[in-house]
Amino acid sequence: MSEAETSTEIVVSSATTGSRIKRLKIYIFRVLHIHPFKRTLIYLFKRPMTEMYHPLLEDTKSELTITPAFRGFLALNMENCIGCQACMKICPNKVITMVTRAPSDPGQKAKRYPSYFAGRCMFCALCAEACRFESLYLSNDFEDAPYTRENLWYTPERMNEVYDKYLSPIQKYDFEAWLKKKAEETAEA
Ligand code: SF4
Ligand code: SF4
Repeated sequence: MSEAETSTEIVVSSATTGSRIKRLKIYIFRVLHIHPFKRTLIYLFKRPMTEMYHPLLEDTKSELTITPAFRGFLALNMENCIGCQACMKICPNKVITMVTRAPSDPGQKAKRYPSYFAGRCMFCALCAEACRFESLYLSNDFEDAPYTRENLWYTPERMNEVYDKYLSPIQKYDFEAWLKKKAEETAEA
């Protein structure tokens, strides 16, 4: 190969490398500057994905969408609970404690109910799954930001309030359907 041919090849190869670097620079510029700018412009004219919400503004509260599968604070149906402790035993974080409550009727025995510390609960729902008496659920309630940690203790009565106030109608409907089915099964037996 002559000397002139070799020098031409070197010139061609350096020109190719130069154009590759140029293309790479343009690509990086597009990725880092033009694409984000384009995205910003697109989202500027789209409806926001987030929902306006404030706990004290009833207007915004009523528009808030919470999915039925949401896992909020525990709700307890005290009427159904038999104090079997299954929920307490299965809790991986050991946040459930059984507490005794005096009976309303003096002829009856005292009953035990679960209470829990929401500050260490991870809302895994294992306790609700373990409950065989349709008395423990995870509700839609998520509004609790107290000033002291003690206020994150949920007594059975407080959990019962959550049940009355926040448990979705779908879950309550399921419970009624379950009771009806059980009654039918008992009648058939
Ligand atoms: S909530 Fe359910 S699992 Fe827990 S003690 Fe009551 S009946 Fe048993
Ligand atoms: S949701 Fe999970 S962590 Fe919370 S009390 Fe139930 S089992 Fe324990």
